[in-house]
Amino acid sequence: MREPLISRFAPSPTGRLHLGHAYSAMRAHDLARAGGGLFLLRIEDIDPGRCRPEHVAGIIEDLHWLGLDWDAPPLFQSARLPLYAAALDRLKAMDLVYPCFCTRSQIAAEVAASAGAPHGPDGPLYPGTCRLLEAGKRDERIAAGEQHCWRLDAGRSIALTGPLEWHDADAGRVVARPEVHGDVVLARKDAPTSYHLAVTVDDADQGVTDIVRGRDLFEATHVHRLLQALLGLPTPRYHHHGLLTDADGNRLAKRAGSPSLASMREDGTDPATILAQLRGAHATG
Ligand code: GLU
Repeated sequence: MREPLISRFAPSPTGRLHLGHAYSAMRAHDLARAGGGLFLLRIEDIDPGRCRPEHVAGIIEDLHWLGLDWDAPPLFQSARLPLYAAALDRLKAMDLVYPCFCTRSQIAAEVAASAGAPHGPDGPLYPGTCRLLEAGKRDERIAAGEQHCWRLDAGRSIALTGPLEWHDADAGRVVARPEVHGDVVLARKDAPTSYHLAVTVDDADQGVTDIVRGRDLFEATHVHRLLQALLGLPTPRYHHHGLLTDADGNRLAKRAGSPSLASMREDGTDPATILAQLRGAHATG
């Protein structure tokens, strides 16, 4: 028997939802409904500086308004920090992570000083300064209470797992290239986890079989695939969809001031019309 399909929508409550979010939620929802599966809602609220309870309420209100219903109580990442800590502990025990004491400005200065510093999809890669610290020095600095994040030793990790791949509904077979991100942060200075670690742990823990999300997160999947292999977690199928753009071809994003679903509701827009348009964009796009 085929395993039940489980998809999810995983917004960060850092602002109101806009049409781009609605599109992603609709695609994940419809995939589950078409496959007789489950659609889950996960609130990714691990960033204490940017997440707000009122945005959580807004997300729930907007999805209800659209008529996209989920099948289990929403999961809040902020309530699951011990799970992420346990995953980090496993990686510590495997000697695949290290504490990094560098400040942003130290990293920037080091990158600026090195001609041809390697760049990844999100900018210059971490130059690896703290990877070279002796274990004794690391322990001393931690014991002295020096602020630090935890980074993945990408080189060691990749050497351990060997080549990896995943299947993407659009791109087909994708060979994982986690090295393009360098030594990513797995636990931040201000939060005991990071997006990469929390999302990987949660998708496995919730039994998500199909990850539907925008193409802007395609590159992050290289890291998630590596973490799955290191932590012995299953690899879901991926559906990285195209991003909705406005009439001028600009990506819809809250930062660019695109209308929120809340403002559309206030203007009297019919949610059924929105969903029909979004489904039409999927069918033709
Ligand atoms: N929380 C992420 C965001 O709002 C999405 C995570 C994911 O779908 O993997 O951009």
